[in-house]
Amino acid sequence: PAKTMDELVSLCKRRGFIFQGSEIYGGMQGAYDYGPLGIELKNNLKAAWWRSMVYERDDVEGLDAAIIQNKHVYKYSGHEDTFTDPMVDCHECKSRMRADHMKDIKVCDNCGSTNVTAPRDFNLMFKTNVGPMVNEESYTYLRPETAQGIFTNFKNVVDSTSRTLPFGIAQIGKSFRNEITPRNFIFRVREFEQMELEFFCKPGEDEKWHDFWVNARKQWWLDQGLAEENIQFEYVTGDDLAHYSKSTVDILYKFPHGFEELEGVANRTDYDLGSHTKAQDEFGLSAKVKKNEHSTAKLAIRDLEENKWEVPFCIEPSAGLDRGLLAVMTEAYTEEELPNGTSRTVLKFKPHLAPIKVAIMPLKKNKPEIVALAKELKNKLQKLGLGRILYENTGNVGKGYRRHDEVGTPICVTVDFDSIEKEGAPVTVRDRDTMEQIVVNAADLPAYVINYFIN
Ligand code: ATP
Repeated sequence: PAKTMDELVSLCKRRGFIFQGSEIYGGMQGAYDYGPLGIELKNNLKAAWWRSMVYERDDVEGLDAAIIQNKHVYKYSGHEDTFTDPMVDCHECKSRMRADHMKDIKVCDNCGSTNVTAPRDFNLMFKTNVGPMVNEESYTYLRPETAQGIFTNFKNVVDSTSRTLPFGIAQIGKSFRNEITPRNFIFRVREFEQMELEFFCKPGEDEKWHDFWVNARKQWWLDQGLAEENIQFEYVTGDDLAHYSKSTVDILYKFPHGFEELEGVANRTDYDLGSHTKAQDEFGLSAKVKKNEHSTAKLAIRDLEENKWEVPFCIEPSAGLDRGLLAVMTEAYTEEELPNGTSRTVLKFKPHLAPIKVAIMPLKKNKPEIVALAKELKNKLQKLGLGRILYENTGNVGKGYRRHDEVGTPICVTVDFDSIEKEGAPVTVRDRDTMEQIVVNAADLPAYVINYFIN
């Protein structure tokens, strides 16, 4: 794995995974842009999550709710009142920092001065105005988590799918937080993506499902290539527990800057649906909620056995896509000494995550038959729907191997003179991890590739 963030940042920029946002204007703190390979990796990680959370289960539905929502969503969700971090100002150097991240909240982290304020609450939501009138009433916020869109659509999803408990709603999308001190590359940013599941169950079955999801989510991260010894659980307690949570288990990963949260799995009880439902008094809610004077829908489900309407409990595995990508890159990053005394950098991604699945390289740039066969193979493999197959005609296969090691391409295929002269059109297939080369006939290549990627 990568030992420092710097080596990752440098590779990400050099090879086109991740760039500083607004770089040509001096940058924008806490915002990053995903380049040609970054977007592929991100899409692959999202697809793996969706496959596991939606397609491979029969009790989860998908959703894509709007980012801009009615301001009442944040009034009743509790974000307007409580979505804050404690902040300290330094009178000396004018910097601001998050109190719970400071080494000592009486000493400025930046200049060492003791002339600092006491911590005060800073709301992390970005406020904005909607419509042509900018006035007291026209404000709302960019969503700080995707979850609220799931709660506000609870009735729509239940009515349109006839779901009964237990079942979940999954969503992937952008969230925004005006972090006081964004840092550590894409670990803590102001605009990021989350992959969230809200899993609704009967009260009383919540603890069982909470355990289930903690373990299922750890297993999923292992399946993305993270090593067991680099994952830890943290049981969140006391003051660190969110106001809505009965219990939370954070899944931590050993990032280059230390063990930090990758995903949180929270038991949110009936707090959210209970907060957003109308007729709150009818349901005997267990959570303490603000009195809702605006909701027009009952967010409850019929318990067929007991023939009554109830507000379910909710278990939420909430993962950061950007943090996930950083974890996967950290883990995949490998520097290897080779037997011939040289070294190489390889990103040992799991095949399903690799930004480029197969690179096809003609040995000679200007030999028409070689080029034609290479292009034909590219088109054939592309149709398999595995992801990006790259035809790359630089005429330097050795350099190509190095580059594709560095971006984690599992398979390189070289088309050479043998391929156009010998029967069966043999091509050379080179494996990223073993660096071994084998010969495969062109007609057998699609089956070889499918077998490699789908197992
Ligand atoms: P932290 O304590 O690190 O600020 P959090 O506990 O506030 O995180 P949650 O509200 O539980 O985070 O959000 C769920 C997930 O969303 C986190 O586990 C993380 O992966 C991701 N996430 C949250 N804030 C950020 C951020 N500023 N940048 C990138 N990812 C984030």
